[in-house]
Amino acid sequence: MNCLTAPAPVERGAALEERAVLRERGQHEVFCGLTGIIWLHRKIQDAFFLVVGSRTCAHLIQSAAGVMIFAEPRFGTAIIEERDLAGLADMNAELDRAVTSLLERRPEIKILFLVGSCPSEVIKLDLSRAAARLSETCSPDVRVFSYSGSGIETTFTQGEDACLAALVPALPQEPVAAEASLMVVGALPDVVEDQFRRLFDALGVGPVGFLPPRQSGALPAVGPQTRFLLAQPFLDTTARTLEKRGASPITAPFPMGAEGTTAWLLAAAELWGVSRERFEDVTAPGRERAKRALQRHRERLAGKRVFFFPDSQLEIPLARFLARELEMELVEVGTPYLRQDHMAPELALLPPDVVVSEGQHVDKQIERCREARPDLVVCGLGLANPFEAEGITTKWSIELVFSPIHGYEQAGDLAELFARPLDRRSRLEV
Ligand code: SF4
Repeated sequence: MNCLTAPAPVERGAALEERAVLRERGQHEVFCGLTGIIWLHRKIQDAFFLVVGSRTCAHLIQSAAGVMIFAEPRFGTAIIEERDLAGLADMNAELDRAVTSLLERRPEIKILFLVGSCPSEVIKLDLSRAAARLSETCSPDVRVFSYSGSGIETTFTQGEDACLAALVPALPQEPVAAEASLMVVGALPDVVEDQFRRLFDALGVGPVGFLPPRQSGALPAVGPQTRFLLAQPFLDTTARTLEKRGASPITAPFPMGAEGTTAWLLAAAELWGVSRERFEDVTAPGRERAKRALQRHRERLAGKRVFFFPDSQLEIPLARFLARELEMELVEVGTPYLRQDHMAPELALLPPDVVVSEGQHVDKQIERCREARPDLVVCGLGLANPFEAEGITTKWSIELVFSPIHGYEQAGDLAELFARPLDRRSRLEV
């Protein structure tokens, strides 16, 4: 293969083994994994997500997704009442009835996810068995999967990880003597997926498949010739499950901001032996558009101090983007989990003196934040309002998962998501 020369050297921070990481355990503030349904049901257009849960779960999913319903929703909740505790057999029969009636009403559904939750009456139910049983009765028209969206000890993005990991065993096996293929892993808005597909096509990298696909019929094949690139940093279980099926990861920074996008594309291009000239030609227009889009936000954000609470698992790539492309100052970068293998290229790009914290002791972290008085705090919904009341400007981390933020064309929008709360605060202060 005609491999690329190494990319231009960048000023690097400390790699994981050299970096002091503050590890904390204690009370933590996280959102529930059911939240992933909100972006996943929009992505996989013939899937339905049936939450098996309590009224609380139904309220959460309705209120979180309510404003985004544009047609008949592809999610719902089978509410397990306390009376169901009397007998698991009854609960299974109830669930089968609910699924049968749903599928009769909605023949367009081709994939059904049974999504577990954390109430004790649901934990007793073996949803993987229920999925296997229902798959048999509903096949070949509908395939039934199960995963947990439980809010116990998880972060809200782990719902997507669990969902995609549940799909991996159903991916078709790549043919014997298949050529090398690329799988992009992580739910991306269709417009972003199309942009990446065009870039990979122009580079001559492929064939390219996306997990999750827009339709169940487009599940990408997997096997020893499959190389996968994570588009999201929170897909650890999915990555391990793909490796069990023979696929190999391509480790790279994540495609957020111009620099991250270039490094991510380059990692695949190198494997495919794309020439340096071709890579430059294909990516230059996007890099230039991103540079122009970032310019005006840099003027607003440079020198501003930002503090990340651990929530979405996007914190480290976003911090890298803010520090290196917008010249913001990082006070602390909290992440719920630090995945060494996937995060090493990102950590190497963070400024060396930045405090990276893993896990959470929320009271101690709030104290550190108050003391530092950052200009902007990126945190979950539960912390944002109290901080705002104290006069500290916040950005909801969940909004960063709902918004298209990957790739060159979205770099300016991503910067704007951080600039907007500061603009709002300065308008309020006038
Ligand atoms: S899964 Fe648990 S945390 Fe999530 S809404 Fe249901 S009860 Fe609440």
